[in-house]
This record gives sequence, C-alpha cells and structure tokens, in this order.
Amino acid sequence: MVAPRLEIDLGKIRHNARTLVERLARRGISVTAVTKATLGSHEISHAMLQGGATGLGDSRIENIEAMRRSHLSAQISLIRSPMLSQAKRVVRSADISFNTEIAVVRQLSVEAGKLGRTHAVVLMVELGDLRDGIMPDDLVATVRQTLSLPNIVLKGLGTNLACRSGTSPDDANMGELSRLAALIETTFGISIEVVSGGNSANLEWVFGSENIGRVNNLRLGESILLGREALHRHAIEGLYTDAITLVAEVIEFKFKPTQPTGERAQNALGERSDVVNRGPIAQAILAIGVQDIDLGGLQPSGGIEILGGSSDHLVVASSVGRIAVGSEMRFQLNYSALLRAMTSPFVTKAYKSAIPVSDLRRIA
Ligand SMILES: *Cc1c(COP(=O)(O)O)cnc(C)c1O
Repeated sequence: MVAPRLEIDLGKIRHNARTLVERLARRGISVTAVTKATLGSHEISHAMLQGGATGLGDSRIENIEAMRRSHLSAQISLIRSPMLSQAKRVVRSADISFNTEIAVVRQLSVEAGKLGRTHAVVLMVELGDLRDGIMPDDLVATVRQTLSLPNIVLKGLGTNLACRSGTSPDDANMGELSRLAALIETTFGISIEVVSGGNSANLEWVFGSENIGRVNNLRLGESILLGREALHRHAIEGLYTDAITLVAEVIEFKFKPTQPTGERAQNALGERSDVVNRGPIAQAILAIGVQDIDLGGLQPSGGIEILGGSSDHLVVASSVGRIAVGSEMRFQLNYSALLRAMTSPFVTKAYKSAIPVSDLRRIA
C-alpha cells in the first residue's frame, strides 16, 4: 500500500459523532461538527453528518468551498472571523460566520446584498482565553450595529475557550455567556437562537455541571475524530480513540550509537539536544518528517521509541529487535499531528469502515 498514509475509519468517526450527539441532545445541546483538521474532507464530513451533527464548522473558507464543490448541502459555519478580503467568498459558501469585528460584518452585509442573500452571524464574546471575541462590555453596542445592517441576521452568541490560553469552561464563564444572551434579548426584544458554548474542551463541564444555562450548541472536532476531550486529553467513555492511524514505511535500519560524534551545533530544526549514552541501539528511519507530522504528537506502538527527526525523516529506536526495510509502522496521533498529516499532500488518506455492518445498523 501507499505510504505514508492515514487510515481513517469512517464507521468509528460516525460512531463517535453519534454517541456525542445523543449524549448532548439529552442536555439540549446540538453539535456542529468541526472539519478544519480534515482539510474539508468530503468523506469525513459525511460521516459526521451521518452521525447526527446538525451542521459543519470550518475555520478556512477554502475548506468550505471544497465541501460545496463536493455538493455538500448541509449548513456550514465559518468558525474563524472572516478576512475582510474574503467577505464575498464567505457569503457565497458559508451559511453562517462567527464574527468579532463590525467592519467585517458590514462588508458581509454589502456582499450579501449584491448576491441577493441573507447571511447569518454568530457574535463571539471574549470570556478569558484571550483569543477571538468581543469584550463583554462592548457586546450591546456591537449587537446594535449588527441589527441595523441589511441582509444580516443575528443567529446567536458564542465563545471559545481553552484554545490559546487553556482557560477552562466553568459555571462562571459559561454563566456569563448565558447572562449576556439574556441581556441581549431583553435589551433588543429579540430571541437569541444559538448559544454556542465552545469546543471539545467544554465536554467535562457540560456533563458535570448542574446548570448549563442557555448553552445549546457545541462545536466539536477533536472529540469526534480522536475520542478525547480537549482539556486533559482524557479518553471519552464509549468513543473510539483509534479512528485515525498513521502508517509510515521504514527506509533504513542500522545498529547505531546513541551519542552523536563531533562538535555539535543546532540541528535542522534549530534545536540543540543532549543525549544520554545508552550504547548501540537498533535504529530505524521512517520516510516521514516534520513537513507531514508533529513529532511530539505521535504515539508509537509498544517497543518503539521516537528519538527525533527532521523535515523528511523520523528516527526511532526499537527494543523489539530488527525491523525490515520496507516494513510499515503504525502510530496514533494527537490533534496537532493529525492536523499536520491531514494537510500534508505527501500523506495519502485511506478511508475504510471497519465496524461490522450489523453494528453500524445498531448505531444508526
Ligand atoms: C477548532 C475550533 C473548534 C473545535 O475545537 P475542538 O477542540 O477540535 O473540538 C471549535 N470552535 C472554534 C472557534 C474553533 O476554532
């Protein structure tokens, strides 16, 4: 088979999506499945929708355009603030966009008018993680400006925590989001349809909180794809954590010393490292590198240890003896390794559905 490749089990992704959709539905929460780590994969977005996601979300307009080209008609949200220069493309391909700048919403309004369309916006609020979001004190003014624009519908409010600073969703910051939704409703006499509380980092809070307030939507990527919540990377009960596996091919195997020789400076990645001398080891090189994966985000199978790498090489040690050149090695990935591998043109995406048909019927 072609290497390197990602083996992507669509049945497992569908199962993960469905399990989360069902559990969250009991708490009144809908799921927007986030596709940004998949480069807008047609196959994966379909599996997520089959799992019951009410819509898709992606941070790049290019991915959304690719999904539209594959005739995907589901509701799609652009979950990163649109670039001003892309407003026209956003209105054309996304049903909803998440916004924090009124200048952008104004441009979306203009472009929507030209296309004879209405564009929906979710206004994002800053609640402590210090990435994107309108400061809470400015929200009323921004909503007032938004409501005055033609061709724009205010669909809801949202927030995003954990991504930049690791700020954890809790009753305080989520309660603040609910309070703001109520404030906007009473101030303007409107109803806020969607209160989008966050991402895969919100799951522990949702399932543990007595009162989730007005939150009625989450945007989930990592938990569907990798079966883990995003605060501590705990596996979520009942979900597959191995829906996606990386396979790479061995191009060299030699017994080599652990310690480099000669005077040492920076390596190809600008790092310097000290190596403990463990004597000769069984060393293999795989044909994949930091151009395709995040070395720190790979989990090898038993007896294999990742030693390092460069742009095109991954160096591992084997404690299970000799490894034949041409043989394949499998790795689990974290989110950043997945993101890199999915977006590398050098990594083939091999789709399969390994869940027996009877199980799929039960799950469906
Ligand atoms: C990436 C992203 C998500 C999805 O995050 P996961 O941790 O993968 O669930 C949700 N919302 C926004 C705004 C994002 O950028």
